[in-house]
Amino acid sequence: MADATRPTIKGRFTTCELVKREDLTEDLVKFWIKPAQDYTFKPGQYCTIGVEGIERPYSISSSPDEEFIELFIEIVPVEHGGHLTPLLDHQKVGAKMTLRPRAKGIFVLQPDFKNHIFVGTVTGVVPYISMLRKFLNDPSWPEPVEGVARKDYQFHVLEGASYLDEFGYDEELTKLAEENDFIHFYPSVSRPTEERNGGWSGAEGRINVLIEDYLEKLGLDPKETCVYACGHPQMIEDVGARMESTDYTFIEERFWKDDE
Ligand SMILES: Cc1cc2nc3c(=O)[nH]c(=O)nc-3n(C[C@H](O)[C@H](O)[C@H](O)COP(=O)(O)OP(=O)(O)OC[C@H]3O[C@@H](n4cnc5c(N)ncnc54)[C@H](O)[C@@H]3O)c2cc1C
Repeated sequence: MADATRPTIKGRFTTCELVKREDLTEDLVKFWIKPAQDYTFKPGQYCTIGVEGIERPYSISSSPDEEFIELFIEIVPVEHGGHLTPLLDHQKVGAKMTLRPRAKGIFVLQPDFKNHIFVGTVTGVVPYISMLRKFLNDPSWPEPVEGVARKDYQFHVLEGASYLDEFGYDEELTKLAEENDFIHFYPSVSRPTEERNGGWSGAEGRINVLIEDYLEKLGLDPKETCVYACGHPQMIEDVGARMESTDYTFIEERFWKDDE
């Protein structure tokens, strides 16, 4: 049996242990990992884990003040080109994986803006969960900036999925939106007529198509608003194009390249 921690990768790495996993659907799984050494990150950043020398980056959904690092992973089957995820799918609680010692990424909260429009597809919601959890857990975060008071922040999570069982954090986001008038959750399914979406009564259609209407209804000042897009490259491309000739600030995190 292969040793998951064997040093087939170059450079510095540590290990982590899979302490919990939750399978949401056939191809969506949540992992909670425990790093073997102290691990720090900013909400929105990603970690890099590996098995058998194959490494991939994963955005972190937990807040930095939580005990374990939480990940939300889509398994890409081997026949669709998946490399690491088919191996991750076989990891059992207690398994050891490699972990690069430093979190990376600049897809983080932009504190200069009052309004934060978080757009994501399925696993693309992950960085926003970390930001929201941190914001709610830690009244001293983010560090104060001139011109925007913390109490003025408004968060809008727009999440798109093909099916209602793919949202991953819908219960948490629904609850957060109910409990906090500055958090809003707008999930949409793109295949509303399919049986798997039976009982769905929320928004319908691709989230990238719905965003303009959503923004128009809010009537926010674009100069005070940052639109974030994370996940599927085509969704990001489209949202970016829609924001191009506007005064909204737009930032993105692509999980893979379109031509892959
Ligand atoms: C900054 C960053 C953060 C990321 N965070 C996450 C995360 O939180 N959760 C997550 O599941 N993935 C995330 N990814 C993608 C992840 O790194 C892997 O690429 C993905 O898990 C597939 O790994 P793989 O080795 O099985 O396949 P790869 O060899 O990486 O890719 C094989 C093929 O799968 C396609 N592909 C990759 N990811 C997906 C996907 N999610 N859905 C459909 N097709 C895909 C690619 O086009 C490629 O053709 C992130 C990527 C980046 C760059």
